[in-house]
Amino acid sequence: MTIKKVINFSLKFLILALLLVLVIAGIVVIKHVNGAKEVLFAQQEDNKPIVCFIDDDSGKYVPEIWGPIIDSTHIKMGFACITGFMDGETPYSEVFEQMDSTYLRKLYNEGHDVYSHTFSHQQFYVDTVTTEMIDFQCRMSKEWLNTHGYKRNSDIIVYPGGLGRGSWGKNVFASYRGISKKDVKRDVVRKYYKYGVDAIGFKPNNEPIDNYCIFRVNADTSSLATLKAKVDENIESKGLLVFMNHAYELQKDKQNQVQKMLDIIAYCQQREVEIAPLSEALQIRGNSIAVEDYASPFSVYASKNGYLKDGYMKIAYIASLLVIIESIILLLFLFIVFYKRQER
Ligand SMILES: [Zn+2]
Repeated sequence: MTIKKVINFSLKFLILALLLVLVIAGIVVIKHVNGAKEVLFAQQEDNKPIVCFIDDDSGKYVPEIWGPIIDSTHIKMGFACITGFMDGETPYSEVFEQMDSTYLRKLYNEGHDVYSHTFSHQQFYVDTVTTEMIDFQCRMSKEWLNTHGYKRNSDIIVYPGGLGRGSWGKNVFASYRGISKKDVKRDVVRKYYKYGVDAIGFKPNNEPIDNYCIFRVNADTSSLATLKAKVDENIESKGLLVFMNHAYELQKDKQNQVQKMLDIIAYCQQREVEIAPLSEALQIRGNSIAVEDYASPFSVYASKNGYLKDGYMKIAYIASLLVIIESIILLLFLFIVFYKRQER
């Protein structure tokens, strides 16, 4: 055997070995993806629909609007607090006149949720907002909740006016750091909070939910018929339905609006839909895995109940399958060439 022949032989051997390794690697990836799915599916439980109520802005009308509703229906709900405005720490306009801080404390002690609604009602959806501003608002309000004894739900933020899928989210090419600005905003929120509640969506959330854009239905402006239809939709999809209110909006037509809220609560109870504070609902319906932006094809989201959004796993699966097929074709091709040479 000449040196050239030895090299030729070694090269062929190396190529064959590499292809075999690729086949084995592909099989291992597929096996793991399937294994992970089996574990998740084994945990899958039949969902029950849940309805949550959140009042935004910690306004001065909360006691007179929600107090009687809570007393008569015994529901537990959530209050999104503009932490910097509480106790007049930061000046605010008339519309944001705050409830007495002792009332917020009473609600929290009775088992209602208190979330961040930012430090000074900064809207994250506006084009002029910077990541530094979002960071400041997230950090300051979380710090306030934790240092003022509202730690129980300080991992949830309710965005004033929403996170904004509009102008930032749509234009992926107007990007920053190679990803859309929407992702950049989420990256900042993610540093401080596990869940973000949006002001839009107008439909129930289905598992696995989007951690940073939990949909809400505006219950201030919707009629009772619309709200009932949303509850029906939620029962149908066994989802998580979150209603948004502002006590000062309800106050404008107090008697009718309070009656509307009492009626929708009664409707939930009549249809045996659980009403719970969002933090409690998330303990059942939240996620155990939330990787990447929800809309990204590479994201992997798995709910605690074992429901999966598995873009990345699907891609890994398909890529592995392609690697296996390609490697087998190449192997066959090499064998044919090899045998033809032997025959000569
Ligand atoms: Zn607000």
